[in-house]
Amino acid sequence: MDLWFTEKQTHGAGLTLKVRETLLRERTPFQELVILDTEQYGRMLVLDGMIQTAVGDEFIYHEMITHVAMFTHPRPRRVVVIGGGDGGVVREVLKHPTVEKVVLVEIDGRVIEACRTYLPEIAACLDDPRVEIRVEDGIRHVKEHQDAYDVAIVDSTEPVGAAVGLFSPNFYADIHDCLTDDGILVAQTESPFYNQDLIKRSYAAISALFPVTRVYLAAIPTYPSGLWSFTLGSKQEDPLEVEPQPVPEFRTRYYTTKLHHAAFCLPRFVQELLV
Ligand code: SAM
Repeated sequence: MDLWFTEKQTHGAGLTLKVRETLLRERTPFQELVILDTEQYGRMLVLDGMIQTAVGDEFIYHEMITHVAMFTHPRPRRVVVIGGGDGGVVREVLKHPTVEKVVLVEIDGRVIEACRTYLPEIAACLDDPRVEIRVEDGIRHVKEHQDAYDVAIVDSTEPVGAAVGLFSPNFYADIHDCLTDDGILVAQTESPFYNQDLIKRSYAAISALFPVTRVYLAAIPTYPSGLWSFTLGSKQEDPLEVEPQPVPEFRTRYYTTKLHHAAFCLPRFVQELLV
């Protein structure tokens, strides 16, 4: 008999995947943590029934949430990743030779441990000497670190449980203060099909703080609706005004220097959310 996993994404839509094996299932102090091996997308992390990252398409999200901000900042040296316990964003940040320190602030240590064991290709760089892992609440961390980072990447779960506060105006204000005077914030802001109100609220809160605020999109098959948004707030540089200059050894599978700009070309229904 075949085994199938369904992520119920809205009251009326979901994604169903054929499961080869359930590799791990446990309740951590924060959430239900499951690692599945699926036919279509390989091994994946599922938290509270929501797909977080899958070997088959993780490169899209991790490249697009990281490289747009990292190539927009003139010289990113200190980076903070809020959430991101699977290690994918850290792996991408370290592709930039200017980076001296990446601080990963993940509230649930079991996510880090499980991804090291079952998703080693995503958690590949967590032992890099430039990485500092802090198992704590990102909300508290940004309050306690002023003027500390060039880039802040909010790679959080959906706005439920411990992540609710990561989508609040107060959190964005604290992030603003933890960034240097040319700092850049980028946050994953969910699906333009299913989470329009969240995108509107996040954009309003971030644009009230950052003189340059833009939304860009990427196609991510394992995420709800397959279309995903990111909101970038910048104190100085405009991502549309910079020409990314990758080093020769820089490798990606989704991000390109042309897509760096094209991703900001929004469909009309998304543009209309931002007025
Ligand atoms: N790429 C995924 C997405 O877009 O939904 C997110 C992946 S990452 C695994 C999300 C992480 O955020 C989880 O491991 C979760 O434990 C962490 N998280 C949630 N709330 C947090 C908080 N307040 N502080 C730090 N980490 C948090």
